[in-house]
Amino acid sequence: MTRRRGEVQIGTDPRWAVRVSGLDRAEAHMLATLTDLEEVPFEGLALRHGVEEVRARELFRLLEEARVLAPAPVHRRGTDRTPVPARLGDDLQVHSLLARDADGAALLGARARRTVGIEGLGRTGAVVASTLAAAGVGALVLDDPRAVGVQEPGVGGITERDVDQPRETVVARVVTDVAPGITTRTGTWADGAPDVVVLVDSYATDPERARTRLESGMAVLPVVVREADAVVGPFVVPRGAPCLRCVGLHHADADPDWPVLVAQLCSRGRRSPAPQVSVLAHLVGAFAASQVLAVLDGEVPATAGASYEFSLPQPIGRRREWSEHPGCECADHVPA
Ligand SMILES: [Zn+2]
Repeated sequence: MTRRRGEVQIGTDPRWAVRVSGLDRAEAHMLATLTDLEEVPFEGLALRHGVEEVRARELFRLLEEARVLAPAPVHRRGTDRTPVPARLGDDLQVHSLLARDADGAALLGARARRTVGIEGLGRTGAVVASTLAAAGVGALVLDDPRAVGVQEPGVGGITERDVDQPRETVVARVVTDVAPGITTRTGTWADGAPDVVVLVDSYATDPERARTRLESGMAVLPVVVREADAVVGPFVVPRGAPCLRCVGLHHADADPDWPVLVAQLCSRGRRSPAPQVSVLAHLVGAFAASQVLAVLDGEVPATAGASYEFSLPQPIGRRREWSEHPGCECADHVPA
């Protein structure tokens, strides 16, 4: 975009927006033709606009340093790598900008080798599954013995014809439609435990179930749906702190009856799950998927040591931070 004579802006996201000034007319024309994130054969451009090759090379080097231009194809598809599927083109483009080494293809290749478990495949769980499939995760372990209810079509790829069908079968079909080649298993860890498991429950997370997953080496992301809100987090990694027991102990400090209530909430949730309003299921499912992807991509998720509460009618995530509880032994695991 041309800002004024001799000055061009490239990029709009504030992290990459760059103004280049001191340009002559030909240079300004050349840079103004660039589309954000474009992969540029700069020799051709320089020639077309009558810019000296040395000068063009210098300008493009500056723009590459500013990470405004997508990296060269060599970083996108190495000769010894499986090509990134075309359907991941947008993810590839954006992660090539976001990744510290500009190697979006390596990041997506790593996702394709990871396995995520999702327990609880109502609307919210179905959104988590389909979002992860669309983002390139290679394998999903789907766990939910129930059938699709009449109130569930319309979200996460669930349709009217899926009513009364097993949720595991329906979600496996949805993610395979989204991402042909994805591996799906149901309920069993026989072929290896997932790297991460998302537990979608009504009213409360079952502490025992979370504990067994952590002891099996999985990172656990709890998602709890309540009457008209949903809570995502905190994300807990094996031997990490604060853990879910810390959260339970903090609850018990505030309400001594909490341990008795949790058991009742879990059994109520199994008997009669909380409603999952479409807009909340979309939002919370996608947010939970973003947190899983952060962990798979080697980032620290926003939900490490924090939960986000999304309340209808206008669900905007409210952050709540959790600290290690002095009565929990998990703090001892963390190196000083
Ligand atoms: Zn703890």
